Amino acid sequence: MPPGTAGKNGFPPYIMRLMKDNYDIIVIGSGLGGLTSARRLASAGHKVLLVEQHSIVGGLATYFKRKGHIFDVALHGFPVGMQKSLRKYWGKDFSDRIIQVKSIRFDNPQFTLDTTFDMENFSALLVEKFGVPAETVKAFFAALAAMNYYDDQAEVTASLFERFFPGRKDVWRFLMEPITYANGSTLYEPAISYGIVFGNFMSKGVYTFLGGTDLMLDMMVRELRNGGVDVETGARAEKILVEGGRVRAVVVNGREIGCRAVVSNGSLPKTILEWTGAEHFQPDFVAGMRKVRLSTSSSQVYIGIKPGEKLDFIGDLLFTSTHPEYDTDALLGRKITSRTYSVYYPEIRPGTDRYSIVASMNSRYEDWAGLSKEEYRAAKAAMVEDTFNALEKYVPGIRKIADYAEAATPRTFERYTGHVRGATFGTKFEGLKYSMELGKQVGGLFHTGSVGIIMSGWLGAANYGVITAGEVDKYLATSGRA
Ligand SMILES: Cc1cc2nc3c(=O)[nH]c(=O)nc-3n(C[C@H](O)[C@H](O)[C@H](O)COP(=O)(O)OP(=O)(O)OC[C@H]3O[C@@H](n4cnc5c(N)ncnc54)[C@H](O)[C@@H]3O)c2cc1C
Repeated sequence: MPPGTAGKNGFPPYIMRLMKDNYDIIVIGSGLGGLTSARRLASAGHKVLLVEQHSIVGGLATYFKRKGHIFDVALHGFPVGMQKSLRKYWGKDFSDRIIQVKSIRFDNPQFTLDTTFDMENFSALLVEKFGVPAETVKAFFAALAAMNYYDDQAEVTASLFERFFPGRKDVWRFLMEPITYANGSTLYEPAISYGIVFGNFMSKGVYTFLGGTDLMLDMMVRELRNGGVDVETGARAEKILVEGGRVRAVVVNGREIGCRAVVSNGSLPKTILEWTGAEHFQPDFVAGMRKVRLSTSSSQVYIGIKPGEKLDFIGDLLFTSTHPEYDTDALLGRKITSRTYSVYYPEIRPGTDRYSIVASMNSRYEDWAGLSKEEYRAAKAAMVEDTFNALEKYVPGIRKIADYAEAATPRTFERYTGHVRGATFGTKFEGLKYSMELGKQVGGLFHTGSVGIIMSGWLGAANYGVITAGEVDKYLATSGRA
């Protein structure tokens, strides 16, 4: 893309600058982990290049524009901790835009209810609606609060629930379904990862960014550029070059750019096995990495409402399901029974009068990967139709007031983010070790981004960006100039 060219589909006209020949650090990927890492490293006085293969920054936390609508891909809600992280690492202009998502609704065969998704309200619902003794609820939240990353990680979430709410599948669903949507986790993953994520949300409820993802990303790019970071979109890192056990350059769009450290925000297996090359790592590290499981993927249906038409208030976030019980297999299946609707009213983007709805589903890559072009198109169209049918219950006559509908599948996520199998939440828990230990294998090589649930989501990814930046800073201070 030549300098000054506007991006596709109404994306902001990020000005392409000329990359220099050398940087202290090259950050590969502009997900929230990469963006925040770049910002921290530039603030620490380093020369930083951020390269993003897509024509727009944000990674999974992105947006797109169609027919006058702006669709947020991953802005459904995050914990209040995001306010502190944005204030600390990006500034008050960012944190002042954090607002609470007020109405979260559940509708499934086991229960229908409204919640603000915070500890007080959740506790009251567990006692009053589900009839759980108050002391059990208290003990459950106390157990979550006492969890610590360094504890024994053998217990899985199912056994944690069984301990406190034996046989209460309705309670399990209430506690688990939103977290599965938020990060793809199942009942059979370490309880600690559930505890940390759920505990984060429970501290004060669910929040969002006033102005939408587009505004936040524009503000971030501006902030980075003002801070001296070269941000290049349409710039694909193809190879990480290693010499004498240390990184020395990255090949970007065929051009070698020198650096002393690399922060990869892209796919962890690709970083190790494809971009750097297994030959630069200890064989047991590579063997272990090959066994790391990837998270599952997602599908979405985006629906834009015609200008002039309105949506009655139906809640901000609706967790809906027609499946009798919480069931990971059913949540992931092609035959969709569960959908989370994020409803965007004009208030989220002050000054506009547009409404939109994004339906999100957890999905398996293999259900979509083998389809022919025609089958794929038909399956996407069916997913859109089924979503309209399901939405009729909440917005009668939705078809008449919608003027745009499109679907994304695990293949879409794979294509736009480069994540292997469209994994939308990185790797499972065991990936964290490999992500954090890259630098012990190859000097100056680091990773940040969704791994092991804890580092996932807007808050987890941004905070992991800060942690990684700290490690890079330490490395540069002690490694000397190459
Ligand atoms: C449908 C959906 C809904 C979600 N909803 C929420 C939500 O409501 N709340 C929440 O907190 N979280 C949500 N998430 C999760 C959250 O968006 C992610 O966990 C987070 O944004 C991931 O950030 P990351 O730092 O891991 O980077 P990623 O977003 O994974 O970005 C990686 C970046 O690297 C780039 N890249 C890859 N390869 C290369 C290369 N070779 N060269 C250059 N660049 C490259 C990619 O293009 C991408 O931009 C959702 C995710 C999905 C998919």
